[in-house]
Amino acid sequence: MVDISEISLTNEIAREILTYEFISVLYMDGSYIIDPVIDEIYSISPEESIKILDILSEEGYFRKEVVRGAYCRECFSTDLIREYVCPKCHSSRIIKDRILRHKCGYKGVKRAFINSYALKCPKCHAKLYREGEDYFDEGVKYKCIACGAIFDEPMALYRCSRCGAKYFGKPPEMIIINYEKVVI
Ligand SMILES: [Zn+2]
Ligand SMILES: [Zn+2]
Ligand SMILES: [Zn+2]
Repeated sequence: MVDISEISLTNEIAREILTYEFISVLYMDGSYIIDPVIDEIYSISPEESIKILDILSEEGYFRKEVVRGAYCRECFSTDLIREYVCPKCHSSRIIKDRILRHKCGYKGVKRAFINSYALKCPKCHAKLYREGEDYFDEGVKYKCIACGAIFDEPMALYRCSRCGAKYFGKPPEMIIINYEKVVI
């Protein structure tokens, strides 16, 4: 019937495993959780359990499905939201606008200079006259409302919508492998 000669373990375990309708393997943070706990029941390692399940799937006894997803290491929620924040203080209160620099040294978003249809420096209150002379347009950038930092590109992070934990770069990933018995 089943060719399990490749498996170093007994044919008996493979035959026992074939009595289950559905087995799922969850891999997160470097460890496996197998449901039902076939690794514990038959005193084999999770890796050996997966190897047997994979061979049985290749033989057509189980339908294997792999699902990958980000999760929060603090609360295990899978609801992570991508956010763009200030690279200096990590606040999400950032605005995109043209950055103007006045000759007095003040630098800020264009909207802060707009004063009843004219451009006026919010620091020294002088009226702006000619770009390149008394003020300079530094192009479109981002400004953080929280700390005042001005930057070219915001920083991307993932925030857990349940507990608020933040992940810079890639968030932790969990892998779920489902083995569903094929009804013949
Ligand atoms: Zn900031
Ligand atoms: Zn000024
Ligand atoms: Zn969380």
